[in-house]
Amino acid sequence: MTENWAVGVDLGGTTVKIAFLTINGDIVENWEIPTDNSDEGKNITKDIAKSIEEHLAKWNHAKSDVLGVGMGAPGPFDYETGIIFNTVNLGWPDNFPLKEKLETDLGLPVVIDNDANCAALGEMWKGAGSGCTDLVCVTLGTGVGGGVIVNGQIVQGAKGAAGEIGHLTSVVENGALCNCGKTGCLETIASATGIVRLANEMLVDQNVESELRTVVTNSGMMITAKDVFDSAKNGDIVAEEVVEFVASHLGLVLANIANTLNPQKIVLGGGVSKAGDVLLTPVKEYFNKYCFKSVAESTVIDVATLGNTAGVIGAAWLAKDQKLNESIV
Ligand code: ZN
Repeated sequence: MTENWAVGVDLGGTTVKIAFLTINGDIVENWEIPTDNSDEGKNITKDIAKSIEEHLAKWNHAKSDVLGVGMGAPGPFDYETGIIFNTVNLGWPDNFPLKEKLETDLGLPVVIDNDANCAALGEMWKGAGSGCTDLVCVTLGTGVGGGVIVNGQIVQGAKGAAGEIGHLTSVVENGALCNCGKTGCLETIASATGIVRLANEMLVDQNVESELRTVVTNSGMMITAKDVFDSAKNGDIVAEEVVEFVASHLGLVLANIANTLNPQKIVLGGGVSKAGDVLLTPVKEYFNKYCFKSVAESTVIDVATLGNTAGVIGAAWLAKDQKLNESIV
């Protein structure tokens, strides 16, 4: 008997990651194709469908043995109809019927969720949150994304906008302007972009000797969040102050999330989470400081383990969870 597979798709502005997974969540094959966002994104779903068909043929695997396709995409969505309201990077017009288009092009059932939620589901299925039913995932990348899982299911909220952890604010007076139009959002502080901005501001404010200042000069004013963490590890005063500021706000926000939901784990992913103990140790200290006692004793902060496969794994979980292909069910 042929093994049933789920297909996971993680749609990004420059590449589309695609994977075949067994129903146990093991990756059979994963690959990438470029995102063609020219011509109002008309080719995106066609390219995805063609690529999936080619790879199925390579494995001699019939479409009828595929449970369905789960897809993570940048939201916001109407989850029931699979209509994506608006996107910045994909070229589609507003209210684009993504689910319907891919189903037509591919001839398989499709379920869609936003990319941060898929990453959270991936970590729950096969990553740091394995075995948890109550989990919050916070992705600290160029921006800050979030996914909230309660009783094994993503919390969508009234209009699919639950889990926007990047836009929680922790009372920053005169905070920086966020992409969302508000000021002082967590994303302006704890994203890679926010950390670099804070470092540049503090270097201007503080006229002290600093290894980080030398790094900035040598790099032609282009530093990364990793540079800031590396300098902090070496005891650089300015970099340490940046990390302390980031950790205090992140710790406070995570404590407030934990006080509300008391998840088994809060999993931190994305490039910034790779900083290691230089960030995690102070984040955990502030987290414990602001947490309700029994929450601090039962909610664990951990680092994501799946890297950039979390999205396709979580997307495939959606297809498996919904057992989309009725000919198999
Ligand atoms: Zn915001």
